[in-house]
Amino acid sequence: MSNPKTYSIVTLGSHSALQILKGAKDEGFKTIAVVKKGFEEPYSSFKVADEIISIDEYPDFSKLEQQLIDKNAILIPHGTLFAACSVDQLKDNKMLYFGDKEVLAWEESRIKQRQWLLGSGLTMPKIYANPEDIDEPAIIKFNGAGGGKGYFLAKNKVEFEEKIALHKDTTYIIQQYIIGNPIYIHYFYSPLNDELEIMSMDKRYETNVDSIGRISASDQLDLNLQTSYNIIGNIPIVARESMLAEFFKMGRAVVDKSKELTSKGMFGPFCLEMVITPDMEYFVFEISARIVAGSNPYIDGSPYTALRYPEPMSTGRRIAREIKNAIEQNKLDKVLG
Ligand code: AMP
Repeated sequence: MSNPKTYSIVTLGSHSALQILKGAKDEGFKTIAVVKKGFEEPYSSFKVADEIISIDEYPDFSKLEQQLIDKNAILIPHGTLFAACSVDQLKDNKMLYFGDKEVLAWEESRIKQRQWLLGSGLTMPKIYANPEDIDEPAIIKFNGAGGGKGYFLAKNKVEFEEKIALHKDTTYIIQQYIIGNPIYIHYFYSPLNDELEIMSMDKRYETNVDSIGRISASDQLDLNLQTSYNIIGNIPIVARESMLAEFFKMGRAVVDKSKELTSKGMFGPFCLEMVITPDMEYFVFEISARIVAGSNPYIDGSPYTALRYPEPMSTGRRIAREIKNAIEQNKLDKVLG
């Protein structure tokens, strides 16, 4: 079957589904949005879905397995899918799946992720094994926290204990807080031609950390404010051009390392999340081995994709282009997990 028209592209209606489905349509695929009841309107109003399937809750998605297999649908994963289904559920699911399923285990475990990133030669913030070890500002991150919700800062053990007492979640890490500017680099790696592309970049818009500066320091103290990092949107960034060569090296390093960790290695979209200090040190605190919502401002392409492509190229469309190229070259197995 080397005709893309015989396949559909399906994703959960949330996160980055609009650009995934729009991009798939632009590349000639039929599109299916699986949407939680009550959340259908964006997918019908923006006309990105040829078919909308409503479900009561996201985990019900797995009940659609056979129906979607019958439609020859290729599933594009994103953050909401990983929040809804466990890595084991995704592994057991027999649907066509874009991406390397083996790499999910390396992304999911903070310990394995750290091994991967350090093994790629990247610099990461320190991890404090015990609260007693905190000797400079630290950020406490909960495992289950979606998008930074509940994270807090502590500068020593006493402050840590005061603040942790307010939380029920006991699975967290204590990480060195890096003073600098966060930047999220969105990449795409093609296993078909071994090319690495920088698609776009963003920074997060988070509540309340991005609004605290709107009131004076004395008011901040009076109100006894605690910073939180609950994401509500994404803001585009274009980096200083002299930094791009290093970004390419970093992206290539994690791709190369992933090939030692899994049989296919990571491919498709991924994101390196870092803080850059005034000394121009790059501290990577996380990798997302999939499309990130930070690429959503670029549905019509980014300044970087404009350099490489004559047509507007979102990350969602780039995924569909990769699948189309693979189908036409009879290499679909290279991009399926
Ligand atoms: P995350 O949910 O891991 O993407 O992080 C949520 C927020 O915390 C983002 O604004 C990050 O830039 C920030 N952040 C995460 N880790 C660190 C760190 N080690 N140092 C400074 N800021 C961080």
